[in-house]
Amino acid sequence: NKFERHNLSYIVEEAVKLIVLDTLQDHHVEIVNLCEEDHLVFGDEQTLVQVFINLLSNARDASPDQGTVLIESLQNGNTLNITVTDQGSGISADKQEQIFEPFFTTKEPGKGTGLGLALVYSIIEDHQGRISVISPVDISNNKGTQFVISLPVS
Ligand code: ADP
Ligand code: MG
Repeated sequence: NKFERHNLSYIVEEAVKLIVLDTLQDHHVEIVNLCEEDHLVFGDEQTLVQVFINLLSNARDASPDQGTVLIESLQNGNTLNITVTDQGSGISADKQEQIFEPFFTTKEPGKGTGLGLALVYSIIEDHQGRISVISPVDISNNKGTQFVISLPVS
């Protein structure tokens, strides 16, 4: 791994391209990257792209037809808060405690390994960051999930 300064929006865009090429055409889900062009992070390009591939593929799997997934970044002092928000089924409080554990999955056999979020967690740790989950996002409909990643500003 090679740690360098990267443009966050570029990292996210790489992940979006790969997800769209992969299976998005069958899913009718829109992914919108609203990360600020001038937000910089320090880290390994490939592993940071992997973080967003994993979060976006989960968001896609959870999303309803015509759903939107938003990625936004907000600088707060020396911290960059990056959110990935979907309009999907949401994650119950008891499951929120388990989703970052290796092999925890609610998907059918063959559809999920349960390793995606465990990998995301360890990559973010390696970058001196933190990740948390908020669900539901839309309280009135009891739906939606938001992952919040905090990374030091580069
Ligand atoms: P996998 O995708 O292989 O199941 P992950 O580690 O990526 O493994 O995710 C673990 C579990 O967390 C998923 O099976 C699902 O139950 C839940 N999950 C993750 N992201 C979302 C999301 N955006 N919306 C709803 N549930 C989610
Ligand atoms: Mg996954």
